[in-house]
Amino acid sequence: MELVFVCPQAGRSFCSADYEIDEFRGVIEDAAGRKSLAARVRLQRPCPFCGERHDYRAADLPCPLAAAARGDGASA
Ligand SMILES: [Zn+2]
Repeated sequence: MELVFVCPQAGRSFCSADYEIDEFRGVIEDAAGRKSLAARVRLQRPCPFCGERHDYRAADLPCPLAAAARGDGASA
């Protein structure tokens, strides 16, 4: 499954399927009732713009992880 990532250095987005999900703690809900995934997503390849291996909070990524957190077909 490809995800869209944004390079924090270049401010540009790219797609990658070379990532791993780490520190997965399921879906959490904040005080306002918004659901998000508590996990980190680490790129397994250097960023195409700056060459670093970024990692992100899953909650900061655009769908489809966000969609999964909303319950649109999440099976975990
Ligand atoms: Zn980058």
